[in-house]
Amino acid sequence: MHSLAPYAATPETSRGRKYAEPAPQFRSEYQRDRDRIIHSKAFRRLEYKTQVFVNHEGNLFRTRLTHSLEVAQLGRTIARSLGLNEDLTEAITLAHDLGHTPFGHAGQDALNQCMKNYGGFEHNLQSLRVVDVLEEKYLDFDGLNLTFETREGILKHCSPAKAKQLGEVAARFINGEQPTLEAQIANLADEIAYNHHDIDDGLRAGLISIEQLREQTLFEAQYAKVLALAPLAPSQRLIYETIRRMMNVQVGNLIETSQAQLHAMQPKNSEQVRSASESLVTFSATMYEQHLELKRFLLANLYHHYRVHRMASKAKAVINRLFAAFMQDVDLLPPQTRQHLPQQQAMLGRETGTARVVADYIAGMTDRYAIAEHERLFNVSTLP
Ligand code: MG
Repeated sequence: MHSLAPYAATPETSRGRKYAEPAPQFRSEYQRDRDRIIHSKAFRRLEYKTQVFVNHEGNLFRTRLTHSLEVAQLGRTIARSLGLNEDLTEAITLAHDLGHTPFGHAGQDALNQCMKNYGGFEHNLQSLRVVDVLEEKYLDFDGLNLTFETREGILKHCSPAKAKQLGEVAARFINGEQPTLEAQIANLADEIAYNHHDIDDGLRAGLISIEQLREQTLFEAQYAKVLALAPLAPSQRLIYETIRRMMNVQVGNLIETSQAQLHAMQPKNSEQVRSASESLVTFSATMYEQHLELKRFLLANLYHHYRVHRMASKAKAVINRLFAAFMQDVDLLPPQTRQHLPQQQAMLGRETGTARVVADYIAGMTDRYAIAEHERLFNVSTLP
């Protein structure tokens, strides 16, 4: 492994796992986390969960799985360049979307709405719930028993009220502390990845145009250069080349800016990183502004495009109907889900406990499973 900076997270300084286990033989503790994540059911389901475009809209669009892989490779490059723990960043990035509902943000918003009287639903908290509770693979415990640092990194944001319930893993939201640098990287690698793959997917789907993108500073800076180099190149190649260069410029800026901040602060160890007043992994101020410009553009023109909105509206209807049907009659739930009712009802009260079991079930669904379940429940000519 590459040599680590003194402020990198290491298995030696880790706060460990909830249930003590013997040290791994052939891997580091964070590699073991990564492997457990990759072998989880929730990870395999990412293949059939929407990023922006629903699975059946085309084979070339990103899914939650390919998105997570792109975040991981970006994160690893940044971690390695900064002398940080690549394995920890990889584990966090691969797990960051495990709790996502079917149908992307539309699904999450719908489920959150359904859960508003029962403690709400937030995909970030759900990712932690997946690795802490919902995976059932080990004889001795529920969940994957990941290290503290991976779990803390998965929990990207959290309200103070929720943080109180979650305890140590969320303590930083109460104490105003930073997570590990490896988690800070995972956060920005996520944003870099989706900004760029959404441009690519949005262009491919014909929902946004080169002309619109040329008004965005980051895009235009690279597109103009690429066009000058090869004015007659096929447009798809021009787009790929532009996006590749955009990512390169932003990753370079992130590494340089973060390196300079770490140099200035000179943290002696990973604990000192926690007490910094702000994230030490950042873009420069100018780059951050351009990054936000791109995000705003995608929000207004892609995520709110009427065709994306139509699909989102159908997705919400599916989630709402499933939730209402299961709440009204829990006997519609498959036995392996229903078996969780007694424990949740005892913990949270009858109605709230039921709602949590239903939300866990719905959140775990892939897009196509949710559509099929909707058919089975509401189409009288389909076999249940
Ligand atoms: Mg993500």
